[in-house]
Amino acid sequence: MKDSKVLLIYTGGTIGMKENPLKNTLEPFDFKHITKELPELNKMDCKIDAVSFEDPIDSSDIDCEIWEEIGDIIYSHYNEYDGFVVLHGTDTMSYTACALSFMFENLKKPIILTGSQLPIGMVRTDGKENLITSIEIASAKKNRESIIQEVAIYFEFHLHRGNRTSKVSSEHFDAFISYNYPNLAEIGVEIKYNYHNLLRKDCNQLIYKKGFSPEVLVVFFYPGIQFKKVIQSIQKSTLKVVILFTFGSGNLPKNKDFISFINDPKNNLIFLNVSQCAAGYVEQNNYSNGANLKNAGVIGVRDLTIEAAIVKSMFLINKYPNDFQKFLEFFNKDLAGEFT
Ligand code: ASP
Repeated sequence: MKDSKVLLIYTGGTIGMKENPLKNTLEPFDFKHITKELPELNKMDCKIDAVSFEDPIDSSDIDCEIWEEIGDIIYSHYNEYDGFVVLHGTDTMSYTACALSFMFENLKKPIILTGSQLPIGMVRTDGKENLITSIEIASAKKNRESIIQEVAIYFEFHLHRGNRTSKVSSEHFDAFISYNYPNLAEIGVEIKYNYHNLLRKDCNQLIYKKGFSPEVLVVFFYPGIQFKKVIQSIQKSTLKVVILFTFGSGNLPKNKDFISFINDPKNNLIFLNVSQCAAGYVEQNNYSNGANLKNAGVIGVRDLTIEAAIVKSMFLINKYPNDFQKFLEFFNKDLAGEFT
């Protein structure tokens, strides 16, 4: 009798494909029959059920409704399973991990996202190991409690806090990095959990919160950028949050017009400062170029990833569409271990 239960949710991506030898092409297979493709799963020490999106998607097609679809599946089965494994394309996996981490407050069970660089039906696939270890992590318990009580990404022998990751390679098996937070576990012969880095919430009451508004504009700065055009395009957009994707510790070229534009309360916009440097902290006081932004009211996002900054903004602007004070109060709060 297997006493733990894991639900596999297949959304799409490379992992669920196999080669059609007649056509020499990659095709998605019916994930409900995953054990036919991977008989090893029958030997695992937990019961595995699988559900699949009717039309599996390339993860570059992910949007806010699909995050909610995944969330609904998990929430509606939350009490039946010990853990959840979401199979997802790698391209936007970090964004989905952020979204789920904000949707499930006081999570006590693991939600592990994984995928692969090569389809599971190929001989050299990385998908088999990623999937089998993810299931093992999703069912792992200590003192009758789940070891992982958060949304994580498992990929190529590392378990990361999901909302700290970025996809950094479209080629290497080791495709994800969490620059600003230590890994939750390292996987070799054994799974070694870094217990002091795991998220723990005191409250046991799961709160499931849906809703994202994609009211976010990201402006990527580069040397020589024409500020006049930047101002015009921000003015034309009807979005509410503008993320300035800046240099180093949060610097931009000195430009008086841009600073007075940011300063103008008539804009009715929230400006956030996220650095193009994936590792490290936004510290707007380090240089006068950054301090100009701070003095104009731009909020430095500390060590949030760009993915987390976008998704957190979408989540909070949906909750507080007309209350920027509340938006900022919660933006500066640690909701799910997303910043230091
Ligand atoms: N384009 C694919 C996706 O993200 C790549 C992958 O699965 O790794 O869905």
